[in-house]
Amino acid sequence: MALPLTINEIMYFAGRHHGGSEVVSITADEGLHRSTYAEVFGRASQLAGALAALGLEPGDRVATLAWNDHRHLELYYGVSCAGYVLHTINPRLFADHLVYIMSHAEDRVLFFDPMFMPLVEAIADKLPTIEHFVVLSGAGGASESKLESVRCYEELIGERNTDYAWPDVDEDSASVLCYTSGTTGHPKGVLYSHRSTVLHAYASIMPDAMGLSKRDVALPVVPMFHVNAWGMPYACAIAGAKIVMAGPKMADGETLQRLIEDEGVTIAAGVPTVWLALLTYLRESGKTVPSLERTIVGGAACPLSIMREFEDEHGVSTRHAWGMTETSPLGTVNTPVRSSEDLSETERDQLRVKQGRAVFGADIKIVGEAGSELAWDGEAFGDLKIRGFWVCDGYFGQDDSVATLDAEGWFSTGDVATIDADGFMKITDRTKDVIKSGGEWISSIELENLAMGHPDVAEAAVIGVAHAKWGERPLLIVVPEQGKDVDKGALLGWFKGRVADWWIPNDVATVEEIPHTATGKISKLTLREQFKDYRLPAES
Ligand code: AMP
Repeated sequence: MALPLTINEIMYFAGRHHGGSEVVSITADEGLHRSTYAEVFGRASQLAGALAALGLEPGDRVATLAWNDHRHLELYYGVSCAGYVLHTINPRLFADHLVYIMSHAEDRVLFFDPMFMPLVEAIADKLPTIEHFVVLSGAGGASESKLESVRCYEELIGERNTDYAWPDVDEDSASVLCYTSGTTGHPKGVLYSHRSTVLHAYASIMPDAMGLSKRDVALPVVPMFHVNAWGMPYACAIAGAKIVMAGPKMADGETLQRLIEDEGVTIAAGVPTVWLALLTYLRESGKTVPSLERTIVGGAACPLSIMREFEDEHGVSTRHAWGMTETSPLGTVNTPVRSSEDLSETERDQLRVKQGRAVFGADIKIVGEAGSELAWDGEAFGDLKIRGFWVCDGYFGQDDSVATLDAEGWFSTGDVATIDADGFMKITDRTKDVIKSGGEWISSIELENLAMGHPDVAEAAVIGVAHAKWGERPLLIVVPEQGKDVDKGALLGWFKGRVADWWIPNDVATVEEIPHTATGKISKLTLREQFKDYRLPAES
C-alpha cells in the first residue's frame, strides 16, 4: 500500500494501540501534569480546529517558545498533522536572534510559556508577521499582559471538538522548522518533512540506536526546541513508551532525580551538561536512580568521567551519539558490538568516547583536503560528510543557487572525524576549532576530555592561540572543582603518556566559568574573544 509516511500516521497508530500510555510533565503553570497519548491527541484535535478558525493556510508557520511538556507535545501533533509547520524556537537566544528568525520564518502565531511573557512583550513590536499570541496556560494566564491581543491556550482550544477532520498530508510537505544555533552569521532554518521525520523516528527506535520499546519510560531532557527533542516525541509514540518531561526544570539535578525515581524512567537523553547536573546532585544528596538503564548523550562530546560515574556508581550505561540540526539529528550511536566484549579496560574506554556507528538511513564518510575519501583506520582525520533520508539538502528560504550538498550529494557537517576499521566514528573537532600546530592537527575535544578526567577539574576547554614557531598551540582553560586549586605543572603532567607530547597544551588558564552557547555547547567563539590578548609564556 502506498500509505504516506506522515506524522498523522504515527498519531492514528499510537492513538489506537498506545492510547493509554502515559504522558507525564512538569508544566510552567500547574506543576506535575498526567495525561495519556489518547488525551494528547484529542487536545491536538481541538488545537487544530482552533488554528483553522484563526484562518491559517497549509504550510503556514506556527512558532513555539516553550519547554518540554504535554502542551508542547499537543502542538507537535496538532500543528504538523493539520498541515501547518511547527517552528520551535530556543528561548535562550538573544532577542535580536529571536526577532530575526521569527521574521525570517514569517511565523503567524506564537505560542509561549508564561515565563516568557516579559521576553515576548519586549520584542512584540518587532514581530509584524505574528497575528496571534497565545500563552500556554489556563484561563487568566494573560490577565496582566501588556500585549494587545493575547489569549490563553486552554481558552483557545477549550470549546473545540476532539475529532478534527485531519487533512490528507503529503509526506514530502514540511512538518517542523528549526533554526541552527548560528555561532557565526545569521541562524539558518532547517525544514523537516513528514517523511524524514517518520523515517528518522523508525531508525532511532532500532536496538543499536535508542533501542526503544513499549516497556520503556523515556525522559527526553533535550529540549523540544532543539532538533525535535532528538525525535523522541515521535519515536516514543510509535513504540508506545511512556514519556516524561521536565518542563522548565531541565537542568535541575534534583528534579531530574525525582522524576526518574517517581516515574520509573528507564532511558534518558540529553547533552553532557545536564548529566553533570544530575550526577553532582546524586553525589551530594546520596540519592540514586535505580530504574534508569541507559542514557543517550550527544550534542557535545561526552567526557569519559560522566560515562564512568554513571556506570560505576549507578549501573547506568551511556550511549554516546552524534548528530546535528541538519541531520534530524540522528547520525551515529555508540552501542557496543560483540568484539568490544574482549577489550581491555583502557581499550574499552577509548572505544566508548567515540561517537559511534552509522545507523541505516544516514551514511557517513571522511574526506581529505583533496576531497577523496580517507581510510577507516582510526587515525586519518578528515571532514565528516553525511547523506541520508533525514539529512537536509538546503536551508529554509535560501536561494536555490547556493549549493548545500557536494557534487555527489553529501552534506558537509563542519566536523572533523576519524572512522576506525569497525566503523566507529570519532569527532575530533569542529573544522573551525581544530588546532593547527606546524601544519598538523590537534584535537581540542580529546584534550578537553582528558582534562575533564583530572580530579581537580570541573570543566575544561581548549583553544588554539598564536605561536611564533608553530602557528598555533593549545591553551587549556579550566574551571577548578569547588574548593580545589589547579596546579599548572601537575595538570600538564597529567597529559604525559596520555597523548603525544606535541599535543600537550602550552599553558593553563583558570576561569570561574566557561561560556556556553544557547544550546549548551562550549562557546569557543566567546573564549577566543576573551583570550584574544593572551600571549603564551615566552619559553613555550
Ligand atoms: P546542533 O546542530 O546545534 O545540534 O550542533 C551540531 C554539532 O554539535 C555537531 O556538528 C557537532 O559539532 C556537535 N556534536 C553533536 N554531538 C556531538 C558529540 N557526541 N560529540 C562531539 N560533538 C558533537
